Amino acid sequence: MGRTAIITGISGQDGSYLAKLLLGKNYRVIGIRRPNAPTDLWRFSELGISQDVEMLDLNLQDKEKIISALQKVKPDEIYNLGDQSSVQASFYSPADAAQYSGFNALLLLEAVKETDRSIRFYQASSSEMFGASKISPQNEQTPFQPISPYGASKLTAHLGVSNFRNTYGLHASAGIMFNHESPMRSLEFVTRKITYTLANISCGAETVLSLGNIEARRDWGFAGDYVEAMWAMLQQDEPDDYVIATGNSYSVKSFTEKAADLLGFKLIWEGSAEKIHGYDKLSGRLLVNIDTALYRPIDPDETVGDFSKAFKKLNWEPRVGFDELIGLMVDADLKRVQI
Ligand code: GDP
Repeated sequence: MGRTAIITGISGQDGSYLAKLLLGKNYRVIGIRRPNAPTDLWRFSELGISQDVEMLDLNLQDKEKIISALQKVKPDEIYNLGDQSSVQASFYSPADAAQYSGFNALLLLEAVKETDRSIRFYQASSSEMFGASKISPQNEQTPFQPISPYGASKLTAHLGVSNFRNTYGLHASAGIMFNHESPMRSLEFVTRKITYTLANISCGAETVLSLGNIEARRDWGFAGDYVEAMWAMLQQDEPDDYVIATGNSYSVKSFTEKAADLLGFKLIWEGSAEKIHGYDKLSGRLLVNIDTALYRPIDPDETVGDFSKAFKKLNWEPRVGFDELIGLMVDADLKRVQI
């Protein structure tokens, strides 16, 4: 057996892809699970890794228990992917965001410092930390201006990483990840909501895709590419922070059009602003409407990341482009719907 890695947030999209990547590199992979919380491991089944990941029940708010677990497992690497995950949800429960996306990372870092400073640590930071910044594209030097509780909490953890790195010499790195999607994305995110709902409609479901701000533009990459960058960061001699992005942004509207196209629809828009509707030109059927309840209190208009540092130092670049990503998601959802 090779090295041992601990992954928090392992049941999510990134955790599952990262587990698969590390297992392929002969790691022992241990996933942290919240005690007494139901964990749905459907992604492990889809990725064929259900038998290979070890799960450990651990309360990430209990530092003494974390330290005991680290002493027992003796990990070489920790990937902290656990968080509240959704920007939208953070507006309803900012205190949960602070706990799960902020403080938990600090506790883990403290535990590493007190147990074994040679453990390498990866923190999942987020482009949401740039928030209101008008600078584009955004890189590691761009000042942070978070505008959501999620972004503010992620920034707490992000600054903690540089603090533990600079003050205590921990090998702690952070990936400032722009949006990354895949067939393993949960339905609360707009991309998967679009591909899943349109796949259902194409198979006869009597429903309409309700969206919020369709003019929002995001730099969307493929999660399978992004977990490779996480691993690469921990293989460097020196820890550091890296922007991981594609450098291109597209609107929610364009994503919807492309997904519809791949499913055999020809999406045309009528009306404007929140009165806009999307119809299938061929059948005249209503496919998309706007639900203003899905608008956020505040939402960055556009995000675009500059990944040139990751390219130069990690030799990392995104492989899956926008159209291919949507194709992967549409194909997977069509298969799921057709079962
Ligand atoms: P985020 O960028 O991490 O918040 O990822 P999301 O996939 O949740 O949202 C991406 C963008 O899509 C944001 O600008 C949302 O305002 C916009 N959006 C438009 N309609 C929807 C929707 O129905 N659900 C979600 N989650 N986002 C939507």
